[in-house]
Amino acid sequence: MINTPIAYLKGVGPLKANLLQSELHINTFADLLEFYPFRYIDRSQFYKINQLQQNTAEVQIIGKITSISTIEQQKGNRLVAQFTDGTHVMDLVWFKGVKWIKSNLKTNIPYVAFGKLNWFNGIPNMPHPDLELLSEFEKGIQTKMQAIYPSSEKLLAKGLNNRTFIKLIKQMFSEHILIKESLSAKLIFELNLMPRKEAVFNIHFPTSQAHLSKAQYRLKFEEFFFIQLQLLRQKMNRKKKLKGYIFDKVGANFNTFFNHHLPFELTNAQKNVVKEIRKDMVTGAQMNRLLQGDVGSGKTIVAVLCILIAIDNGFQAAFLAPTEILAKQHFSAVTKLLTALPINIALLTGATKPKERRQQFADLASGKLNILIGTHAVLEDKVVFNNLGLAIIDEQHRFGVAQRSKMWLKNKLPPHILVMTATPIPRTLAMSVYGDLDISVIDELPPGRKEIVTGHRFDSNRLKVFKFLSEEIAKGHQVYIVYPLIQESEQMDYKDLMDGYESISRYFQMPEYQISIMHGKMKPEAKDYEMQRFVKGETQIMVATTVIEVGVDVPNASVMLIESAERFGLSQLHQLRGRVGRGNTQSFCILMSGNKLSDEAKVRLDTMVNSNDGFEIAEVDLKLRGPGNLMGTQQSGVLNLKIADLVKDAELLKLARQSALEILKTDPDLLNPENKFINAAYADKIKYNNLWANIS
Ligand code: ADP
Ligand code: MG
Repeated sequence: MINTPIAYLKGVGPLKANLLQSELHINTFADLLEFYPFRYIDRSQFYKINQLQQNTAEVQIIGKITSISTIEQQKGNRLVAQFTDGTHVMDLVWFKGVKWIKSNLKTNIPYVAFGKLNWFNGIPNMPHPDLELLSEFEKGIQTKMQAIYPSSEKLLAKGLNNRTFIKLIKQMFSEHILIKESLSAKLIFELNLMPRKEAVFNIHFPTSQAHLSKAQYRLKFEEFFFIQLQLLRQKMNRKKKLKGYIFDKVGANFNTFFNHHLPFELTNAQKNVVKEIRKDMVTGAQMNRLLQGDVGSGKTIVAVLCILIAIDNGFQAAFLAPTEILAKQHFSAVTKLLTALPINIALLTGATKPKERRQQFADLASGKLNILIGTHAVLEDKVVFNNLGLAIIDEQHRFGVAQRSKMWLKNKLPPHILVMTATPIPRTLAMSVYGDLDISVIDELPPGRKEIVTGHRFDSNRLKVFKFLSEEIAKGHQVYIVYPLIQESEQMDYKDLMDGYESISRYFQMPEYQISIMHGKMKPEAKDYEMQRFVKGETQIMVATTVIEVGVDVPNASVMLIESAERFGLSQLHQLRGRVGRGNTQSFCILMSGNKLSDEAKVRLDTMVNSNDGFEIAEVDLKLRGPGNLMGTQQSGVLNLKIADLVKDAELLKLARQSALEILKTDPDLLNPENKFINAAYADKIKYNNLWANIS
């Protein structure tokens, strides 16, 4: 039985079973089969000690142990075995598990020693070799491709080395455990996949490179396939279970606005997204859609059009932003766009006065208020709508899932939810992490935008950079100067900001120049005051930490100067850069850094200099940081892949999702006999795999 506890495998005592469970989450036979090698090495070749070279990675040597000694050291003992093959002598060395290993070593019998070399004064030794009696070795398969399994010191110290893993896995095969097929004959045929049993065997004991490649392909596909199946089924179930309001009217407000008050022609991408959303809103199921669009791609107008649809169908709408500044900005933008229409809009933030608040609550409850725009304040239980039909959440990465789901409870049926994000997520990642949401993408910027020119400058060139700023200001433009803000060293960052502010004010002196400053330690009113001065053009320079990161819109600003740019992540740099280039003047982004840069920082800065495309930048970010870091730990269930790789196997992921989708389309409950293997494997995964249970 494949789901037999691992302790029942011959060769696995209680000690090893514990270790396998605690260190590697290997609980069953099946788990051990899915403990995949991470590379393969050639074990058909042998070396002579006198031919060893410093650059050889791993070597295997046939020889005998002539003597064994234990050397006492402060930090535990060291075991040294003298090893000779007739051409020369070298040491085999152990630092861990000394006692156990010593009791098992035999002298004057031929061994195969396998491992990496350490070189000391030109003389090699082999620490923690993989040691096997030659007689045993000859019984096994000598292959050009031997699997190497992930390891750790702890495992090695307890005797769980590579050879043990090979032995245990071989043991499973020799016990003829049943490895069941998990995909349908149709899929296997159409995609020309290796059958499961053969693939599992070849991943551990490849019979050729071609077989190994096919085995890897099959198992990676399978891994993606079942995750996608799970996510897609969740989505379908939600749609089945969660009824939603039907917005099937296109009414006066939408038509009047669309035909007479659109300030510009929509881009095709915007039109398509509006279409997708409208389709969602008539299905009778609740919409849960993620709208991705680069900074400046025009998400706001899409939001407004959706809001009008809700209103025309007799519902209210909420529009949430993560900060007070942003909420205000949305409020004034939406109010301006909709002035000609008989629509009531209010702004609710932490700063809204009690009296005004009471009026708002009354108007919300009576239905007089059509749109409520605001911050987290909108989520509070006291905020009760008459008939909320649509909630739009901007810049979602600032809102937690729990907060978001509060909006679901604000009406009898959950309102439609549109989440908008300006931090593009690579498609593959979105498919995995948001695989249960619907996703729309605005992949086109409004026409006539000038590309922002981005440059990287070293701190030593600061005066030149300042001169450039003064020239831009002389043309009537405004500039941002941004300092990093990293939680752990808030004090230091604050000091950097203040030092910077001082040197900036020495260079850009009053009264010719007016400077605003903004940082997290200021009271909201003070922040707001400074922001307003900058928006109105009363100040030319905004010195700030990343509090201005998201969404602020000052079209007259033409330069974004980022200090210590090497300390920012790619998506943040891209967000910051998106604060300029919002009007029709040529804009610039200057990345300042010190001279010493890590390789990764160099890649980040180069990427920014060479690309303005948020999706391209997100792909680089994914490659640099890996999916886990990009999305945070809560998603690790989906991202903890055993064999597939989101970056390298992106095409395969798409194929797997497509395949899962096609199957579910005709057989949503996997009841069709042709899908019975899929159904059984799926049920097994849900039952036995802890990680799986956590995917949501
Ligand atoms: P974001 O997607 O970053 O929220 P906004 O909705 O703030 O972008 O739009 C950025 C700017 O582009 C705004 O000034 C907006 O008026 C303008 N804009 C949006 N769509 C179009 C369009 N189709 N044609 C011209 N300008 C547009
Ligand atoms: Mg926006």
